[in-house]
Amino acid sequence: MPLITCPDCSSPVSDSAPSCPKCGRPLAAMTIERTGKSIKGIQALGCLSFPVGVFCLLAGMSSDGGQVVATLGILLMFAGGGGFIWASVMKWWRHD
Ligand SMILES: [Zn+2]
Repeated sequence: MPLITCPDCSSPVSDSAPSCPKCGRPLAAMTIERTGKSIKGIQALGCLSFPVGVFCLLAGMSSDGGQVVATLGILLMFAGGGGFIWASVMKWWRHD
């Protein structure tokens, strides 16, 4: 379990704890916000790598000996699309 720092008393608290065991500050909202940001980051990366992947695929197909570039483009498309879908599902799943 990763530890986060309590914003009130600065003691280390498990990020799965609903509140700080020392001062009782509720931490659940903070954990959700932190998780939401990392999911948004993955979603943004997916948004970026998908068009880059499409571009690499088209560039690789239209040039001689561009198989490596085209393969890289396909990988980027799948990674970007998969990351975007995963982040969308996680956002939906975690939403109360
Ligand atoms: Zn505290």
